[in-house]
Parts: sequence; C-alpha cells; structure tokens
Amino acid sequence: MPKHIAILGSTGSIGTQTLDVARNNPDELTIEVLTANSNYELLIKQAIEFKPNAVVIANEQHYQTVKDALFNHDIKVFTGTDAIAQVVQMDNIDTVVTAMVGYSGLKPTIKAIEAGKHIALANKETLVVAGDLITKLLEEKKVFMTPVDSEHSAIFQCIVGEPFKIEKIILTASGGPFRTWHKNDMANITPANALKHPNWNMGAKISIDSATMMNKGLEVIEAKWLFGLAEEQIEVIVHPQSIIHSMVQFADGSIKAQMGLPDMKLPIQYALSFPDRWQSDFPRMDFAKFANLTFEQPDIEKFPCLTLAYQAMRKGGNMPAILNAANEIAVEAFLNEKIAFMQIPVLIEKAMNGITFVNTPTYTDYVSTDTETRSFVSSLI
Ligand code: MG
Repeated sequence: MPKHIAILGSTGSIGTQTLDVARNNPDELTIEVLTANSNYELLIKQAIEFKPNAVVIANEQHYQTVKDALFNHDIKVFTGTDAIAQVVQMDNIDTVVTAMVGYSGLKPTIKAIEAGKHIALANKETLVVAGDLITKLLEEKKVFMTPVDSEHSAIFQCIVGEPFKIEKIILTASGGPFRTWHKNDMANITPANALKHPNWNMGAKISIDSATMMNKGLEVIEAKWLFGLAEEQIEVIVHPQSIIHSMVQFADGSIKAQMGLPDMKLPIQYALSFPDRWQSDFPRMDFAKFANLTFEQPDIEKFPCLTLAYQAMRKGGNMPAILNAANEIAVEAFLNEKIAFMQIPVLIEKAMNGITFVNTPTYTDYVSTDTETRSFVSSLI
C-alpha cells in the first residue's frame, strides 16, 4: 500500500527533494497535496507531473494563474494560508511532510496532528516555538512524527531497536562558511558570503541560520522535544566534513554514529520509509576519499546565536518562540542588506530581554509572542 502524502512547501529545497524521492519510489508514495507560498510556476509544473488531488498557492495574487493552468487536469486549486491548514486534514492523506519555512509551519502541523496524520517533520521551527504543545498533542492523538532534519534523522536511526537509555546525543555541525574566518573579518560578511554553504545546498533562511550557527541552536531545541532530553544531554560538536550526521552515547558508554555523504534525500526517504528502508541510488560513501574526519569545539564568541538558543531553551516558556521570531526578522533584514551579519544575535538578545515572558504559554500566547516580537525587532531595524 503506498503512502498518500501532502508536501507543504513543495517548491522549496526539501519539497523538491521529497518529490525526487517520490519520483524514485512510485509504488511507495502517492502525492495527494502540494502547497507553495508564491512559486506558482514550479507548483504548476509539479502538479502536472504528479497529478495531486489538490494544490494550494498561499499567495492569492497567483491563484487565478494556477487555476487556469490546471484547468482540465482535475486538480483542486485553493489559495490563502488558511487553506494549507485545511488541506492537511483531507481524508485521502495519511502523511504530511512539513517543509515550509519558519513559524508558518506551526498551525498546519497542529491541524495535521489533530487529524491524526503521520508527520515527517522538516520544519524545525514548529518544535522550537511550541515543542510542549506539539509533544502533548502527538501523545494525545497517538500520532507519530519522524524527523527529516539530517542530524535528528541520524539520532533516530541510531536509537531504532535500542532500549531508550540515552546518556547524551552529540549533534554534529559543519561550522558553516565562517568557521575558519577571523572574528574581526565577520563585520563585513555579505549575504552572498553567507549563502555559500560548504557542504549542503539549502534554502536562503536555513543557509543564513547555518552561517550564524543559529541552525544548530534551533536543532538543539528540536532534539530536546523530539527525544525528550535534558539540556546537559545535548552536546554540539563541529565536524566540518559533514559525514557523521550525529551520534548517540548510551548508558554503557557505547556510541553509535550515522554516516553518509551529505544528501538530504536520504533522511527525507527514511522519514517516509520508516520502519522500512527502501533501495536508493544515492551516491555511496568512499572512506578512502575521507582520510580525515575531524572534530572541534564550536566557537561561541564568533557564533553567539548558539549560546542564545541554549539560554532560550533553559528559560523555557515562550522564550524559544521569542528567539525564533526575532531570528526570522533579523535574517530577512540581513538578506535585504538592512543590517550587518553580527547584528543578528544583537537583535535577538534585545528581543529576549524586551518581550514579555510567559511561563506556560497557550497556543494563543505563542501567536501573540510571535506577532509582538516581529514588530519589536522590526522597529529596532
Ligand atoms: Mg540539520
């Protein structure tokens, strides 16, 4: 029986690679829903190829164009962000791949869990912002979530079949494009510098997050919720070759690592094939070509975002939501050349000190925290 999937964010980096996986596994995966924010041209192409039941173009400006293009294809076309939260509840879907960018993933993920859909989580911000609500809801609805993020997929692959006796996890980080830069040179970083990741080819937002190492900070919080860990059980180590995707150390001191060439298609496929593994023709690792796998401590002076993320996690409540919203606004401002690279952590820290703290937030509190933080950081810019 194939899995019937919805891909939220089908035109982004994870979305297009999920469709590559679907293309290679036509007996295993049937595409039922595709959603995109504004890349209507690619959405139309994807819809014609994969013949989903429905598509959503969130940006209403492009609705008519998509509708006209798919006329005669027997594909329902919807528009608006609310439509995304509705289509995930369709009866013919059993699995939702959440591959949209940032905070926008929260509401549709909640709706999908409420409708009992299996979640392949690529939108880490959902867990960063509201990890407590999501984990409670998963338990309540008996819904399973598999991680797409390569580090979390690695940890998941290491613990499958193990008694759950984790001493700690070791999240690997490539260190990003500025790992070897001198701190003084980091004042002049341009978006073009920051978008050039050494190992991974990713979307703009996550590329900047990798350059500031906020991505690793968000992943620390994501890991806390996915695997139910305490802060002292989550370690970050820089591993520039990105071959070991993360490791787990068990109660007896034994360490398992999951390895492979950096290719997001593998964790995407595993999130969909679990508990099975499907055949793939992804490039294989040749150890002779990687004589040196190296490891080093992250430089927290150069990358204060990592420390801010640990602080937000420690504080709990709505603090990770403040961190996330401030980061989203700051990253966008940096990409638009309105602020310097090293202003990103400065703005985030100001938001963490300036926004009202809520100890046990409800969903409504998270929404207002997000709105409040966005306007606060925007006003500083
Ligand atoms: Mg990752």
